[in-house]
Amino acid sequence: MRKQLFILAASLSVTVAALAQNNQKMKPEETEVYTPVPPIVTPGNTPQDAPSDAVILFDGKNLDQWRMTNDTTQAANWDVSDGILTVKKKGSGNIETKQRFMDYQLHIEWRIPANITGSGQARGNSGVFLASTGKGDGGYEMQVLDCYGNTTYTNGQTAAIYKQSVPLANACKKPGEWQTYDIVWTAPRFNADGTVKSPARVTAFHNGVLVQNNYELAGQTLYIGHPSYTAHGASPIKLQAHGDSSEPISFRNIWIRPL
Ligand code: MG
Repeated sequence: MRKQLFILAASLSVTVAALAQNNQKMKPEETEVYTPVPPIVTPGNTPQDAPSDAVILFDGKNLDQWRMTNDTTQAANWDVSDGILTVKKKGSGNIETKQRFMDYQLHIEWRIPANITGSGQARGNSGVFLASTGKGDGGYEMQVLDCYGNTTYTNGQTAAIYKQSVPLANACKKPGEWQTYDIVWTAPRFNADGTVKSPARVTAFHNGVLVQNNYELAGQTLYIGHPSYTAHGASPIKLQAHGDSSEPISFRNIWIRPL
């Protein structure tokens, strides 16, 4: 046995030595590649400005890129004025992009009204669904809420992946101030039989602070019950008209870079 171990150890060290010797024979150029060539992208003047290759989802003028979620033949009917999009809570519903996306980088700005009232989940509740999988709240929600001094279940607070992932920080600004989400989304992949090939992943910054670090989702975000996946492909991005009675929140400067 000892002899066998000795032979094994000896042959391993020979292999390691051979590899090292082989590396010594290599030229630096042998591990240098020239394709693919990354495209040149001119950054915006500030980190918030859309870079040159972004798809503009809302530039303050209109909702041409959006439609109603529950009746996708209808134009999005939330309020647009002074360059700002405000959730319409009554007689409306969620809105979603006409375009569908897989993997992307998303920038979105939102503002809780300065006169916000309510507490817990009923204080400026909205949400960014990173992929909408159907009517209502189907999909994967990153929570939008006022948690500046407001407490709730932490996996439902601002920047949580709703009821799945507590944010790494509470980076909330005061109501009345504009806030940013910068989100990197990797869509889930499914096998032909509908089983999960690779789950969704998300990395996100709230006001520039890392709040989700390559978090792997267990499935769609549900209000009740444990998350699970149902197979889907490229999906719209959806904004939530939450049914609570607090003042509606606003959005601006929404852009996306499909990856
Ligand atoms: Mg919400």
